[in-house]
Amino acid sequence: MARVVYVNGSYSSYGEACVHVEDRGFQFADGVYEVCEVKAGRLIDERRHIDRLHRSLSELRMKVPMGRAALGIVLRETVRRNRVRDGMVYLQVTRGVAKRDFAFPSDDTAPTLVCLARSGSPAAAEKRASAGIKVITTPDIRWRRPDIKTVGLLPQALARQAAYDAGAKEAWLVDDNGFVTEGASCNAWIITPENAIITRPAETGILRGITRTVVVDLLGKEGFELIERAFSVEEAKAAREAFNTSATGIVTPVIAIDGTPVGDGKPGPLALRLRQHFHNFAEQSPLRALLR
Ligand code: PMP
Repeated sequence: MARVVYVNGSYSSYGEACVHVEDRGFQFADGVYEVCEVKAGRLIDERRHIDRLHRSLSELRMKVPMGRAALGIVLRETVRRNRVRDGMVYLQVTRGVAKRDFAFPSDDTAPTLVCLARSGSPAAAEKRASAGIKVITTPDIRWRRPDIKTVGLLPQALARQAAYDAGAKEAWLVDDNGFVTEGASCNAWIITPENAIITRPAETGILRGITRTVVVDLLGKEGFELIERAFSVEEAKAAREAFNTSATGIVTPVIAIDGTPVGDGKPGPLALRLRQHFHNFAEQSPLRALLR
């Protein structure tokens, strides 16, 4: 089936869709994005993703491209036209098209809005999670505002490639003090030998993952204690369990860090349990709700 992409008000085939060469997203990575999971024909945590998109836009003094209801329709229509039942929908907003100049363009410059959707295989995702993944660690060389979800992802692309080159699936980024910030595209968690569940506070040096927020909620409701503090690579290697959270990976057990097995080198029971229960706690909205 030919895929369809939404660009600035129209839906076109991949071969025809285009964005201007002087788009600020292209020239300056002057744009933000969101990725939302689609599961069994439902959008997962749409409200929180759109809230975070608004935050990213506001932190960068960018315009909101359209209202929430209209954005909801674009998301759904893109998913529908691509017949995605399980997969993801991606939304990108840039500051728009202008003659190349570092300073912002004039106020009447329209933002660029792109939306695309892609099917994924739930069976393959389950297989990956039940096997667990290996991670490597690498210095976090990003700018100091990783709390903003920008399309400036070159450090993460380099980190992910380094992981692949080392036979791992993800890279954990490490700050100047030897503490893990987060993964290239996920938040990082460990469970200590004393059973303390640890993840870095969202206020310092990481993106506040939506999946992270839902897991924090889930843990609270199930009576688990969570300690939000930074943890070192050494502590992670000595952990009983480790896992990642993200909208596309949900909860993914980590079985090795830089070649050192985590715990017994198998996915941890708590990570698997969190994965299993995640969607009972996430918000789910039907794809057709706004179209009827
Ligand atoms: N950190 C980074 C750097 C990411 O790119 C992502 C994925 N968007 C996350 C964390 C996880 O965020 P979420 O749970 O909202 O997908």
